[in-house]
Amino acid sequence: MRSFESNISEIRSLGELATLFEIASDEILTKNNYLRPVRSYELIKADARCQYLKGNKNCGQSHQHGYVVETLDGKQVLIGHCCAHKHLGLDDEKIKNEFQQVSAADREALRRAKVEQLLAQKDEFTQEVKLILSDVRNLRDSAFKVTEALPRQLVSALHERWKRNALKVMWEYLVVRTGDDGTGKKIKENSWYPHDCGTLKGLGPWLSIEDEHFTSQLYSFLHALQKIPEKKKLNKEELAYAEVVLNDLASLKVIKREVNAQNEAISEFKKLPNMLITVQMFGNRLLRAEIVEKIYLLAGESLAMAPNRVVDAIDQSIRQRYSASGLRIAA
Ligand SMILES: [Zn+2]
Repeated sequence: MRSFESNISEIRSLGELATLFEIASDEILTKNNYLRPVRSYELIKADARCQYLKGNKNCGQSHQHGYVVETLDGKQVLIGHCCAHKHLGLDDEKIKNEFQQVSAADREALRRAKVEQLLAQKDEFTQEVKLILSDVRNLRDSAFKVTEALPRQLVSALHERWKRNALKVMWEYLVVRTGDDGTGKKIKENSWYPHDCGTLKGLGPWLSIEDEHFTSQLYSFLHALQKIPEKKKLNKEELAYAEVVLNDLASLKVIKREVNAQNEAISEFKKLPNMLITVQMFGNRLLRAEIVEKIYLLAGESLAMAPNRVVDAIDQSIRQRYSASGLRIAA
């Protein structure tokens, strides 16, 4: 069996192949000059050429997946996966096994190298998780500040609207038309029309702190990372365990992105014109006045008039705009 340096790297191109081996590309590989397979490869492009003798000329098939083979006179040549197994290895268990062993050993060595490379950065990953944890704490704090400042009823209505993606807030106004029916009889016609109060921005999972699952996810990653043994050569089970843990590195990036997105959402929500839309989410005047009071506080703006006067002014401006006789919250 061959031994592997643990810094074995993937061979993805002919260029990489050329840095590791000296391929004698004019050489033809036959069953008679075959000595042993040296290394398997899987290129990104099918630009390796098979040098196996097929019929009376070399195969020449371009391929992605193949082997570097050593000949009896010490030259290195390429053979495609297909020729290796179906022609050179045909009816020859020994050769077939040699190719299979090289493939398996290369796969194993590559897995190990990947894990070892990542484990070399274990301290950096730990630091990164700690940073993300502190970002999550900050996110919780700012979410908490907003949700605590607003009436509970508003927060749960916002959360519910976010979940069903119902961000548009609508009211209806009444227009009464009078006239006669042509015979001199007076008629009155009542029609309700929709009024768009605006589209809520910045809603998100931050509205429900109980739903926050990043913290536990990050801690379990940290614990799993610490459980990977600190030794030079992991055994098979340890290697498999480390692989599973390190696969989760991708979700760190996702969490980081999501935490940033939620922070941005909160700042967007907290803009006063956006929060003013929430006053129109309810018909109850008391609640609407309370919302006005709380959102001005949250925005750090002072109110020039009593909160219920602000509510009246909002309604008044809608009435005036349409010369409406009535207003109601849309069903
Ligand atoms: Zn071939």
